[in-house]
This record gives sequence, structure tokens and C-alpha cells, in this order.
Amino acid sequence: MTATQIKLDKLDELSVKWSDGHDSRITLRTLRDSCPCASCQGETVLLRTYEPLPSPELPGKYNLKQVQQVGHYAIQLFWADGHATGIYTWERLRSLCECPICSEKPHTGAT
Ligand SMILES: [Zn+2]
Ligand SMILES: [Zn+2]
Repeated sequence: MTATQIKLDKLDELSVKWSDGHDSRITLRTLRDSCPCASCQGETVLLRTYEPLPSPELPGKYNLKQVQQVGHYAIQLFWADGHATGIYTWERLRSLCECPICSEKPHTGAT
């Protein structure tokens, strides 16, 4: 599964088209809050988890400047506050999808 098209739909929402025909929409707030980089998610060192430092909400924190594809498996997001270390793999991106179908999908069991 790969993304075939990624664009800023509204000012605060990313729209992603997938090779399987699915259409994802993910708000920028969700994307930024799920940033996979170490400084956002904290690091586990010698079994101790270091929480990320609480960072003040800088202007532009939820403002996406640029999306750049990384190889064939991920995208890198450049935020207006200068943060750009988050690499989002397709799987991660898809798991953040907030469309009605994905939101309603039950977490366990299949019919
Ligand atoms: Zn980050
Ligand atoms: Zn979806």
C-alpha cells in the first residue's frame, strides 16, 4: 500500500489518496501530535522512558509548510515552527486516517 497523492486539502487538513483506492483525511493537529521523532515521542534509554520536554506551542506548530517524499515508503513533514524531524511511514499515515470509515472500524473481531 502506497500513497499516490498527498495534498493540503484545507488549511488544517491533509488529504491522502492510496493505491487501494482509499481516501484519507488527517488534520494537521493529529499529524503533529503523532510526530514519530524522538524529541516528540520521548526516548527509552536503559528501560527508563524519558518524557519529551514540554514545549510551548510556538506559532506555526500546526502549520504545515512542506511535504517531502522519503524514498518509496514515507514522507517527511516540514512545520512552520521549524520542526522537520518526523518521518511518517505509509502505515503510520494510514493509521492516523480520520475518515468516517476508519473512525468507525472496530478494533477487535471480524464479521
Ligand atoms: Zn517531532
Ligand atoms: Zn480512512
